[in-house]
Amino acid sequence: MRALVISDIHGNVHALDAVLAAAPAHDVVWNLGDVVGYGARPNEVVDRLRALTARHVRGNHDRVCCGLTPPQGFNPVAAAAAVWTKETLTDENRTWVRAMPKGPVEVATNVLCAHGSPLHEDHYIVSMRDAWAPLQRMEAGVTLFGHTHVQGNFSMLVNDWEEERPRYGRKEGEVSARIELTRGTRHLINPGSVGQPRDADWRAAFAIYEEDESQASVTFHRTPYDVAAAQAAIREAGLPERLAARLSSGK
Ligand code: ZN
Repeated sequence: MRALVISDIHGNVHALDAVLAAAPAHDVVWNLGDVVGYGARPNEVVDRLRALTARHVRGNHDRVCCGLTPPQGFNPVAAAAAVWTKETLTDENRTWVRAMPKGPVEVATNVLCAHGSPLHEDHYIVSMRDAWAPLQRMEAGVTLFGHTHVQGNFSMLVNDWEEERPRYGRKEGEVSARIELTRGTRHLINPGSVGQPRDADWRAAFAIYEEDESQASVTFHRTPYDVAAAQAAIREAGLPERLAARLSSGK
């Protein structure tokens, strides 16, 4: 079984299309939320997702952009984008976003999908300090999560703790990094953000989860996309300039 794991698309259909084109053949898509907010193509993103064989969990931006919760705690740029997105979504797509389930959702035996943390959908797991409690308390060996827009893996085997960021080879075109999931080890794995990466790499991020009877693995990927087109769409929509500018730095 092979799943394409995506998160934090944030209305960036240019990045999503690049990911769907670059991803190896897969049986299902697992989407970790924040499909809209920030980017200028929310309807196109939702249309693409609706056409996929997929499991979804909602993100905090999804909730605000369909009016489920107020933009409390959002900075002015995020709040402005949420208001614009709410007005721009078609009724049908807004209804679809509103119906996205709250995480964590069990997508396979021993595998959960969450937006923030398996303990709370809005918690940020940035460092091992944040990962410690969920790793101890989560009910599955593997939780896939998003929200921070940073690709990586936190793992725990009894008293052994490890934090990894994928390292990509220097060879041109070498854009994936693989980790084996060993039995008994607990993992919190972030595929990174499709539409607004914040780990200093502008390329769209995603991951592939693979399992058979004997083993499981996650492979991290990056793929280039048409950043200029995504930026032009943001400027054309009159969204804050910062949302366009940050895409080329990946910060
Ligand atoms: Zn996000």
